[in-house]
Amino acid sequence: METTLTISRLSALRDRFAPEQDALLVAGPENRRYLSGFTAREENLTETCGLLLITRERAFLLTDFRYLEWARQEASSMEVLMYSQSLGTTLAGLLKDLQVRVLGFEGTYLTYRQYQRLAKAVAEAGLSVDWQPVEGVVETLREGKTPEEVAAIRRALTLTEETLLEVAQTLTPGQTESQVAWEIERRLREKGAEGLAFPPIVAAGPNSARPHHQPGDYRLQEGEPIIIDMGARVAGYCADLTRTLILGPPDEHFRKIYSLVRQAQEQAEQGLRAGMDSQAADALAREALGAAGYGEAFGHSLGHGVGLAVHEAPSLSPHKDRATTLRAGSIVTVEPGIYLTGWGGVRLEDMVLLHEDRAEVLTKVGFYEW
Ligand code: ZN
Ligand code: ZN
Repeated sequence: METTLTISRLSALRDRFAPEQDALLVAGPENRRYLSGFTAREENLTETCGLLLITRERAFLLTDFRYLEWARQEASSMEVLMYSQSLGTTLAGLLKDLQVRVLGFEGTYLTYRQYQRLAKAVAEAGLSVDWQPVEGVVETLREGKTPEEVAAIRRALTLTEETLLEVAQTLTPGQTESQVAWEIERRLREKGAEGLAFPPIVAAGPNSARPHHQPGDYRLQEGEPIIIDMGARVAGYCADLTRTLILGPPDEHFRKIYSLVRQAQEQAEQGLRAGMDSQAADALAREALGAAGYGEAFGHSLGHGVGLAVHEAPSLSPHKDRATTLRAGSIVTVEPGIYLTGWGGVRLEDMVLLHEDRAEVLTKVGFYEW
């Protein structure tokens, strides 16, 4: 990563420090990558590839021997420190030297156990540090994408769309959901995705009434909806795409549900723009589905931000406690759905780039015109 980019991100972050705050401890993997350029990813919650300590003047990456070389290479604008005894001891030493008294930490990402250990080490070093949980600070910075980030997301989405078009050609009655999911995974990787943004969802027949479903042994059948939700990861950035397909001729019910979802999505995409309140954005599709009598059948948010994480800020949620103002340069999904237990569901998910006066639909692939 260019050092100038990291420096401008760090400076934007420091502008968001609370007045009394001396430093921020960054534990979120995508936040760490965004600020430092260090691309390592944790495989589980109980291990860390490293934490960042950002003060008003300096920026450190604390990691262990396994990641040292890698971190030094990528995080060129950070002072990379290796801890050998424990992260807590090294952190305590730093906080002491830097005279940090008020330390923000990411309550969303630092586990309770990690917090306990670090706080104990700091207290045992005789320091009096005020630990203050902060939420969403780096995430808010990540909302506005640079042209380079938009380009990476476009590449990830194009690759995802090409793969879906290919896989759609191969769908046949009798194939299991897991077989289709593997076909998606294999082709995404062969086409050059560095990985998956998330494990593909293939939900057929009655399983498509579950917005999230783990592909299993259920076999595709003619006349039943098949929801495919998938995304590639390219240069760290994710794509997120859902289409609902059907094998053989669709019946009236499927066409009706499909066209309601499609119209709701179109309506939302036409009305969406930066500066809008997230609840109002969600309502664009929710009101249309509600008016058609399917309000209850659309039980999730209209969409979410996509970037280094497949689900990130902002949330296009109907809930007041998550309300936010949408920003220009954000990339969000628009994914209305109708889910009917016992029958199945239809979801259509596009990605859009928000401008001041409109939403630019990035997703191109379409299957049906109803
Ligand atoms: Zn999504
Ligand atoms: Zn999705």
